Amino acid sequence: MESLPVRRFDAIVVGAGGSGMRAALELARANLKVAVLSKVFPTRSHTVAAQGGIAAPLANTTEDNWHWHMYDTVKGADYLGDQDAIEYMCRRAVEVVVELEHMGMPFDRIENGKIYQRPFGGHTQAYGSPKMAMRACAAADRTGHAMLHTLYQQNVRSNTQFLVEWMALDLIIDPQDGACVGVVALEMETGEISILQAKATLLATGGAGRIYWATTNAFINTGDGLGMVARAGLPLEDMEFWQFHPTGVAGAGVLITEGVRGEGGYLLNKDGERFMERYAPNNKDLASRDVVSRAMTTEIKEGRGCGPHGDYLELKLSHLKPEDIIKRLPGIREIAIKFANVDPIRDHIPVVPTVHYQMGGIPTNYMGQVVVPEGASKEAIVPGLYAAGECACVSVHGANRLGTNSLLDLLVFGKASGEQVIKDIRGQPSPHRALPRGAGDATRARLARLDGATSGERVVDVLNDLRRTMQAHCGVFRFPEDLVAGVAKVKTIAERASRLFIADKSKVFNTARVEALELENLVETAMSTIISAEARKESRGAQARADFPERDDRNWMKHTLWYKEGNRLDYKPVHQRPLSVETMEPKVRTY
Ligand SMILES: Cc1cc2nc3c(=O)[nH]c(=O)nc-3n(C[C@H](O)[C@H](O)[C@H](O)COP(=O)(O)OP(=O)(O)OC[C@H]3O[C@@H](n4cnc5c(N)ncnc54)[C@H](O)[C@@H]3O)c2cc1C
Repeated sequence: MESLPVRRFDAIVVGAGGSGMRAALELARANLKVAVLSKVFPTRSHTVAAQGGIAAPLANTTEDNWHWHMYDTVKGADYLGDQDAIEYMCRRAVEVVVELEHMGMPFDRIENGKIYQRPFGGHTQAYGSPKMAMRACAAADRTGHAMLHTLYQQNVRSNTQFLVEWMALDLIIDPQDGACVGVVALEMETGEISILQAKATLLATGGAGRIYWATTNAFINTGDGLGMVARAGLPLEDMEFWQFHPTGVAGAGVLITEGVRGEGGYLLNKDGERFMERYAPNNKDLASRDVVSRAMTTEIKEGRGCGPHGDYLELKLSHLKPEDIIKRLPGIREIAIKFANVDPIRDHIPVVPTVHYQMGGIPTNYMGQVVVPEGASKEAIVPGLYAAGECACVSVHGANRLGTNSLLDLLVFGKASGEQVIKDIRGQPSPHRALPRGAGDATRARLARLDGATSGERVVDVLNDLRRTMQAHCGVFRFPEDLVAGVAKVKTIAERASRLFIADKSKVFNTARVEALELENLVETAMSTIISAEARKESRGAQARADFPERDDRNWMKHTLWYKEGNRLDYKPVHQRPLSVETMEPKVRTY
């Protein structure tokens, strides 16, 4: 077989969202030769959609500090988060946000010129008191947009090389020592395949919400990093935990930020009752997301939903001043008008819980190094491989993420992984090692099968069945018989996905081929999710099992690891010891 063209870099970053761009900036500023691959133009990455804010205890409006933020994050995670990583993130929050401000991020301001901060679900003062902390640093309701553009401009200034509309397909692992030495990638414009070789490969491919029918996630969020890792024989961690955001526009799924409730909006059922007062008497509509989503689902199930079919709830903002809605929530008003045909200045917005965020992902430590069980260690470092952002499981979000902690995670762990890559590369001999024999062959075989198929399954049919199955069998509440049936269905779907057929065999910008390749990654993501969910016999954070309604710390205070081969599961302990403070002991979680 003819050999593939090879391009060499010091480091490759797969993904140009907030995490990839923050990491790349660190690398480019250190004068490393870095390439950032992205399926879309960098500023179209999904970070651009983030609305409400970035968490940092700046204390610009209310008293605040990293200890309180850490407490809220550990509790929000339902005690499954690694407390060393959580302390690390909360302690670096002020630094990375101020740094972003100095890069030119156009934050909103309060009268004294400091960054505007709003309350967000689960972020409290004084270790979970009923008083909310004003911790979310915001640029109106377009915080991600402002952040992504700021980071992109800084990268352009630092000469980061962008490979735009390039799709990474597989990792290249050296069988000698298991090190990652780069990726095989497809240039979408030409359809050509190349090897991108690097001393460090950082996956920052974002989320995979497209495994569900109703999601706030963009079409590009197909779990490519997860698929690549799974095919390389490495595990995925805590994939059972998917966050349902309480307020997606009913019927459309588009997000209405929690910032709306931070600004004073609240939820109503068909009787006009502010029902969150019953479920979370202290923090009410600003309880954490899993709590609010479950309350909403219960209201609908018990017949208190709104509309002709009783299948949504209403979000009320019309008591807020119109000028505040226009100034602080302009994007939300536009979304409500366009997607729900209501103007929130006068009308209520119809909302339902919608899949939003994956808490699990590629297992890493808080320096971004990918860690896997090997020999006696549960967390041996995979040389040359790093992950950051939503595709990574550090794990700071545990079983449930607090709003605004993701943008923070991108900045903190994007920067930390960049710092670690620099250290690791500087300790290596300068020439690249020889590529392993047959590098790229497995990927080429995969593509050859797809291009050679004359009949088979249509991508759209398999994709729709997968998304419907996940929605019906692994949703807000999880029932044992649904999970068991769901596992069987996803296995059948995976088998169908191995027989995909595309009619268009052309090379130039063939989106049919791209969608088929993405589907393979979605299948790995869905499989890991439903197998891990079926196995975890407890309720914790986003996993709410009808047959095991309580958290079970004695048996299940552990991280799940799923392997593609044989759908094998393994477990590893939660890091309960923080870096410098006392352990935050598990308690019953109330809001
Ligand atoms: C509507 C919405 C609102 C949100 N609001 C907030 C908020 O206010 N605060 C908060 O903290 N969090 C928020 N979140 C969550 C947060 O925005 C995301 O978790 C975060 O932006 C993900 O960033 P990322 O860098 O991991 O990936 P993304 O920004 O998703 O970027 C992924 C990148 O990977 C690239 N990529 C993927 N696969 C490949 C491949 N195979 N080859 C090459 N490139 C690839 C893509 O092209 C893209 O560049 C929100 C999420 C949504 C959906």
